[in-house]
Amino acid sequence: MADSKSNKRRCSFCGRSENEVGFLITGMNGYICDSCTAQAYEITQEAMGTKPTGKGVKLNMAELPKPLEIKTFLDQYVIGQDDAKRFLSVSVYNHYKRLLQKESADDVEIEKSNIIMVGSTGTGKTLLARTIAKLLHVPFTIVDATVLTEAGYVGEDIESILTRLLQVADYNVAEAEQGIVFIDEIDKIARKGDNPSITRDVSGEGVQQGLLKLLEGSVVNVPPQGGRKHPDQKMIPVNTKNILFICGGAFDGIEKKIAQRLNTHVVGYGASQKTAQVDKNNMMQYIAPQDLKSFGLIPEIIGRLPVLTYLNPLDREALRAILTEPKNSIIKQYIKLFEMDGIKLEFDSDVFEYIVDKAVEYKLGARGLRSIVETIMMDVMFEIPSEKKEYFVVTLDYARKQLEKTNLARLQTA
Ligand code: ADP
Repeated sequence: MADSKSNKRRCSFCGRSENEVGFLITGMNGYICDSCTAQAYEITQEAMGTKPTGKGVKLNMAELPKPLEIKTFLDQYVIGQDDAKRFLSVSVYNHYKRLLQKESADDVEIEKSNIIMVGSTGTGKTLLARTIAKLLHVPFTIVDATVLTEAGYVGEDIESILTRLLQVADYNVAEAEQGIVFIDEIDKIARKGDNPSITRDVSGEGVQQGLLKLLEGSVVNVPPQGGRKHPDQKMIPVNTKNILFICGGAFDGIEKKIAQRLNTHVVGYGASQKTAQVDKNNMMQYIAPQDLKSFGLIPEIIGRLPVLTYLNPLDREALRAILTEPKNSIIKQYIKLFEMDGIKLEFDSDVFEYIVDKAVEYKLGARGLRSIVETIMMDVMFEIPSEKKEYFVVTLDYARKQLEKTNLARLQTA
């Protein structure tokens, strides 16, 4: 009964029924839906001349954080990865300068240098991007390349990347046009081989072609609410000329391609000298654009990502530092949690070594550190808030006992 009644309620402006819209507002003699309300608001703003002028972000050369300051800021949150930090700091600084450049008579126009960061999963690529976002004065968003597919297939259109940027810029197009986009998992849209595909490759090369348009700088029609374009949705044209793109990917297995290339290049005079210098434990540091091509990125995309940098694998020392040193390190977070219950939490220092041992033994990486600490702390976090205690010390014995109760291999997929 109630259903058939509610089905009759329709937006008096677009005619869509209650089921087809977000919600309906009831008036004296009719209804209006959420999207018509939004459109009505825009029309009113335009008519009254109160629409934001969209001048973009106000930047001032004197206030810009210099590359050294950007890196120092990153150092507070991210352990190691000096090369990547330096590349990012300079690129972001140059991005600001490009936004500030005035039309000049000398015809020198600073072009943008999009960045690509390559490094195993869990080495800090997203963390770097997120941390830099805290410092920025321009809109910033992180998108995942795995959800993108070629237009017309299940998944999201490439343009949805810009929808996110528009949303964080509060739909101020001029601001969004100066923003920074971090595209995560760019390696997942590599084509499946070095050869152009014969069958359709809807989530690979097709997406790369689409992405190229954005990276190159062009005017793209963006669906304001994201999702698929549909005919009655009003598109917003966005110029990507000044948007800085930072891409990140694990590129699993790329070390082999790097090794192959290095091997083929070290034949002949000086060969033995060069092979001796290669650090086999960290091949990523030798990455070059042609390795990305062997992995399946199309040359046009590689050409649009001129700044190529890498992240180091995390060794014991780095894992140990990650536990306690960053401004919001895992251990600091637990101390804070306990503090909120009026409890002073302490760790014996050999506990940290033990946690790192386990993370290395089970190949859990930096992400695993949190799961290990969580496992150790679970029981005490359950019990202590109801007890009248003022402090708790995590000893090596306690940590060991807690971990031995659980199957650590279970954390490997986490
Ligand atoms: P990815 O390289 O896969 O994007 P993330 O940046 O998401 O890796 O790292 C996963 C988690 O591991 C982070 O949230 C952070 O807690 C920790 N982590 C990884 N690398 C570092 C690092 N270099 N410094 C500090 N923490 C790190």
